[in-house]
Amino acid sequence: MKQVHNCQSMQELSHTLKAQGKKIGFVPTMGYLHEGHLSLVAQAKAVSDVVVLSIYVNPTQFGPNEDFTKYPRDLNHDLSLCEQAGVDYLFLPETADIYGLSNIPSWTDSLGMGKILCGASRPGHFAGVVQIVTRLFMAVAPTFAIFGEKDFQQLTLIRKMTQDLNLPIQIIGTPIIRSPEGLALSSRNVYLDKEAKQAALLLYQSLNLAKQLCQNGETDIKKIVKQVEALLKSNPLIIIDYIAVVNPSNLLAINQIQVQARLLLAVKIKGTRLIDNASIM
Ligand code: AMP
Repeated sequence: MKQVHNCQSMQELSHTLKAQGKKIGFVPTMGYLHEGHLSLVAQAKAVSDVVVLSIYVNPTQFGPNEDFTKYPRDLNHDLSLCEQAGVDYLFLPETADIYGLSNIPSWTDSLGMGKILCGASRPGHFAGVVQIVTRLFMAVAPTFAIFGEKDFQQLTLIRKMTQDLNLPIQIIGTPIIRSPEGLALSSRNVYLDKEAKQAALLLYQSLNLAKQLCQNGETDIKKIVKQVEALLKSNPLIIIDYIAVVNPSNLLAINQIQVQARLLLAVKIKGTRLIDNASIM
């Protein structure tokens, strides 16, 4: 595995690989890798000839009171996981290089999806995500870019951005990887103590409850949300940010269960923000 430390080298490399007819699969991450990230690498390997994984903790997607400085980092561990998973190139951009002197104006808000759900409680977060993903895309110029359904709003927004800008990149979404008990893997799980982890299992149980209600023929979303809310509130450690049932293609709230419906959850447990989601129809 080779390391690439700046955008120009990455662009040249990408250009050479593509001139050789190689398909590049790209996995953007913030590091502190786990099985969830590695499932994205496996997907990238399945569809492409060369896999590029980036590690960059992107400052512009963290709010002023968020965990940018304490976000977990362990480059040595990440290096060995990437080697084992068969990553070909590890892209480790530096801030001054990838951001240059200016920010792209926040046109992202015009995508219409940046200010709802997680964007409502994390102002500027998705503008930051789009900033960095655009820059990474310009540096890597991948054939495929792989994103986890774990961050469903992010995946939907990146798909829309790619369409709106006509980027020649195919976006692939992959399923959420969970612990055996059902907790969605996340780098931030390292913040959770035993009690918080126990409480966090209610997220998965809530998703399953909603699926079960739909399977039993419940179509009224208010009723589904009420039961999910009651289950989450059964543990006093859980502070609900939102419970939303949306159309997965545009993230707009729906009132009645329709052919496609996705339940998105965001909560805080002992100060750690956790998100989870599932298709319930
Ligand atoms: P992050 O390093 O948290 O920015 O995540 C990098 C990529 O990994 C994103 O596309 C995430 O959606 C994806 N990802 C994170 N956790 C999981 C998981 N448990 N299962 C699948 N994909 C995940």
